[in-house]
Amino acid sequence: MAKYLIALDDGHGMETAGKRSPKLSDGTVMRENEFNKTVISKLDIILKRCGFDTLLTAPTDADTPLSQRTALANSKKATILISVHANALDGSFDGSNPRGVETYYYPGSAKGKKLAETVHKYLIQGTKQIDRGVKAQNLHMIRETDMPAILVEAGFMDSPEEIKLLLNDDFRNEVAEEIAKGICEYLDVKYAQEEKEDVIYRLQVGAYSNRDNAVAARTRLKSLGYDAIIVTDKK
Ligand SMILES: [Zn+2]
Repeated sequence: MAKYLIALDDGHGMETAGKRSPKLSDGTVMRENEFNKTVISKLDIILKRCGFDTLLTAPTDADTPLSQRTALANSKKATILISVHANALDGSFDGSNPRGVETYYYPGSAKGKKLAETVHKYLIQGTKQIDRGVKAQNLHMIRETDMPAILVEAGFMDSPEEIKLLLNDDFRNEVAEEIAKGICEYLDVKYAQEEKEDVIYRLQVGAYSNRDNAVAARTRLKSLGYDAIIVTDKK
């Protein structure tokens, strides 16, 4: 396949002011970047598995300026750019707590809209969330990029329900897989499923009631260059 370069942007930095959940029951908070960068690193692995090249626009924990991120994606001529975020309304679990997933593209970008719609279609599968839709929005990451670019808001950090999702590793995997499936569909590339290696193949060559015979068989196998171990079992 033609080599596609996917620019992956994890919103903010670990210490960016504000960008964190309200205090959780154990007294800690979730920083938005912790969610964003975890999803991006999972997405990076999946996309490479599918044959894509990737470009991390902000590979460190620093609060990389947005202009630096878009300049990098533009200079490397990325095919598309995906920016991953977690949403927030007022930084409080009290009061109005909107929920749901939304995807942004730059107003007037037909390709950006198509990419947003394709990725969003997968994002609203899996875990049931409110579908807040695909929206045109004037944001730096999708405005200053030369390539089709979208920004995903995967859920609200200040929703008591959705913070549980955002902290959950299975949900983070799911978001990464869904974005990857949307990218594959948009670029007409086959999505490569993860190969699970949870099977072991045991080869049995004999069973002996006398241990000396088992040892002798093992010695013969080893002299032929095979590995052999003796396991015991009740008759
Ligand atoms: Zn954000």
